[in-house]
Amino acid sequence: MSNVNDSQSYWQATAASPIRPDDLPPAANVAVIGGGFFGAAAAYFLARAGAAPLLIEQMAPAYGATGRNGGFHVVGTAEGYADAITRLGRDNARAIMQVTFDSRALLRQVLHEERIECDYREPGHLSLAIGEEQYAALQRHVAEMNADGFATEMLDRRQTAELIRTPPGPEITGALYGAEDALLHSARLVYGLMAAAQRHGARIAIARVQRLEPHSGTVRLITSQGNVNAGAAVVTVNAWTRDLVPELAGVITPVRGQALSYAPIPQIFPLGIGAAVTPTGEYWHQTLDGSIVIGGCRAVAPGRDVGVTETVPTPDVLAAIEQVLPRLFPHLTGLNVTRRWAGLMAFTNDYVPVADAAPGLPGVWVAGGFCGHGMPFGMRFGQLLAEAALNRTTPAELAPFRVTRPTLGGLLER
Ligand SMILES: Cc1cc2nc3c(=O)[nH]c(=O)nc-3n(C[C@H](O)[C@H](O)[C@H](O)COP(=O)(O)OP(=O)(O)OC[C@H]3O[C@@H](n4cnc5c(N)ncnc54)[C@H](O)[C@@H]3O)c2cc1C
Repeated sequence: MSNVNDSQSYWQATAASPIRPDDLPPAANVAVIGGGFFGAAAAYFLARAGAAPLLIEQMAPAYGATGRNGGFHVVGTAEGYADAITRLGRDNARAIMQVTFDSRALLRQVLHEERIECDYREPGHLSLAIGEEQYAALQRHVAEMNADGFATEMLDRRQTAELIRTPPGPEITGALYGAEDALLHSARLVYGLMAAAQRHGARIAIARVQRLEPHSGTVRLITSQGNVNAGAAVVTVNAWTRDLVPELAGVITPVRGQALSYAPIPQIFPLGIGAAVTPTGEYWHQTLDGSIVIGGCRAVAPGRDVGVTETVPTPDVLAAIEQVLPRLFPHLTGLNVTRRWAGLMAFTNDYVPVADAAPGLPGVWVAGGFCGHGMPFGMRFGQLLAEAALNRTTPAELAPFRVTRPTLGGLLER
């Protein structure tokens, strides 16, 4: 492994934030805490509704998982659809799946309306099958998705090879193919949404929110830069949720993920690709400049990345990521790593995010625990959280994501 070890991700390094922060005001109608995709989306919809929200981010826009992720927008549940049906029941699995389709439609619309440039494209996504057993498992997911009216298909090895411009190694037996799945520049997406929110009347301030307190029918935010009284608050800090909503400690657990980028090469992966070389999965694609962004391999360091909030990469995990492409594509050798980074995801026990009224904090709504698969929920959750804060009630569409659901018991062991 060479000596490259940058704390900045490919996305953070290739787009500077254009957001000019505002001063922290003493009061706001609605406060949104967290400057990732979910905070930006919630602030955008609140601003569009005329609520002049205040978004507070502790470090910088896209500092968290959104600015360090794989750049995939793949509809669906975090675990395979057939497994989600077994765990959650068909009605819940279908409802969650539908939210991701609705969220993609909303994303397309807002990117167009607000002219947000974030390299958004829909080249499709392949979940590769390695061996016959994985092929059969992916076939089950396709069958269940098709039975519920969600478009996806199974490709054999030859059809899979036609979509990749380097010969697949002998282990690859085929792939699940989502023809409309998307790729994007995650940091630019956040910047674009925040800039649009500001245009519609949102304020954006940099401060660390230390605590939330109920205060005469409002919410008091104790921050590093002073206190803010808000009519309602939306907490979208994902891996940091337990700091602000202590009752969710053990429900939403931080888990460190790692990724790296390779120097540009001619386009050979024109679409997003996932594979399960290790049980926790790997993913990669080529950005528009030809760089390859690849991540995964958490299973290589069991337990070491769970419950932590430092974004220091784990060397064993990064070394394992570097072995993925040469193993699956024997012609792909001599790739040069340009950056390595870590980011914080957050997991729940049932692989379904939480989006609900915050337990113990009247007037506060919270979303988090996206299990490494948050992007397909961002826009619709932002819209529903904005609705919740404005109407002071949790919308019915968030029912599968309630903190009281029966599948969400117990502490996380992963
Ligand atoms: C390596 C990696 C790869 C991933 N790849 C993908 C992918 O390709 N596709 C996909 O769908 N998902 C992926 N994910 C998951 C996805 O990135 C997340 O689900 C999503 O970005 C969560 O967005 P968020 O806005 O909830 O959280 P974040 O983006 O983490 O934003 C939370 C923000 O809150 C701020 N904050 C925290 N505490 C406070 C506080 N007390 N006061 C003020 N601000 C605070 C943080 O600084 C941060 O900016 C990946 C995650 C990682 C780490």
